[in-house]
Amino acid sequence: MDALKIIEEKIKGNVRLSKDDGLALLRCRDILWLGQQAAAVKKQKNGDRVFYNVNCHINLTNVCISRCHFCAFSRDETDSDAYVMDVQEVLRRLRAASSAGITEVHIVSGLHPTCPFSYYLDILRAVRHEFPSVHIKAFTPVEIHYFSKITGLTVQQVLEQLVAAGVQSLPGGGAEVLSDRVRQQLCPNKAGAREWLAIMETAHKMGLKSNATILFGHIETEEEVIDHLLAVRDLQDRTGGFQAFIPLVFHPANTKLSHLTKPTAFEQLRMIAVSRLMLDNIEHIKAYWVMTGLKIAQLALFFGADDIDGTVIEERITHAAGAQSERGVSQQQLTELIRQAGKIPVERDTLYTVLRAAH
Ligand code: SF4
Repeated sequence: MDALKIIEEKIKGNVRLSKDDGLALLRCRDILWLGQQAAAVKKQKNGDRVFYNVNCHINLTNVCISRCHFCAFSRDETDSDAYVMDVQEVLRRLRAASSAGITEVHIVSGLHPTCPFSYYLDILRAVRHEFPSVHIKAFTPVEIHYFSKITGLTVQQVLEQLVAAGVQSLPGGGAEVLSDRVRQQLCPNKAGAREWLAIMETAHKMGLKSNATILFGHIETEEEVIDHLLAVRDLQDRTGGFQAFIPLVFHPANTKLSHLTKPTAFEQLRMIAVSRLMLDNIEHIKAYWVMTGLKIAQLALFFGADDIDGTVIEERITHAAGAQSERGVSQQQLTELIRQAGKIPVERDTLYTVLRAAH
């Protein structure tokens, strides 16, 4: 039996896939076969349901000391387009977004050289006070590691203060590729792979849910991709705290890696499918339409994705890197896109409680 046939039998029998299986899947050129395998696993977990939410993104500042080579969003403090939002600006944006019925605000930002930790806590408290029913999903492990560094508090103490001020879950960013080699070359000035995993573990053990991501399509090797998936899977075995895994498509424009090309549709769909097949213990695989574009996100529903993220009012980070997708879409656009693919749109909250399901 050839390797793919053996993998197919394993998938049918719900047998966990190995590192070698993962590498064989990543090298597979039969994209429709891959899609079939991943879609079957997805169907077993969630039937034809596809989740989305109504959310808004706030990026408090684009000033960042890390200046990762893949990032087009960050600026130095002295750049003319550097910004830092104050509390009033954040509230103003949220008031505008709340008319669209948002249930979640997603807050991630640069690592600002001088903003004190109290700045972030003040923003959280103000948001919590004015929008008590909006779920605050905020701060990646990279930011939490930085807060710990600038305050001298432990990661657990930082998390406790963030939770007390309003944080209810963590996004999954900052993972990039969990490889020391990649991080040394592309983002040596921020939390490393071990730190990212350790902070997620601490958060999960405190009862916080989070997502996990991979930023793919730059200098990573196939082996580094599979090792990343295995590291996330191992942690999930221990904590069960990851709700969704989100493959993030690298956008090279305006970055220090602008000589590279963006992953093709084939590569994007393959990553979605391989993530679904390798991460047998993570319930949701998200096609993050801001990065894939709406068309590939819709196709990804046939490649194992069961979540299409949200309405994402005002996305800035990927658009700084040349994303051609919209900056936000309406709920109707999202549900229509899901329906057209023959799936059932389900509005969820951040913790995947069903808010509204089509029949
Ligand atoms: S990816 Fe994040 S940490 Fe890296 S430069 Fe951009 S904003 Fe800063």
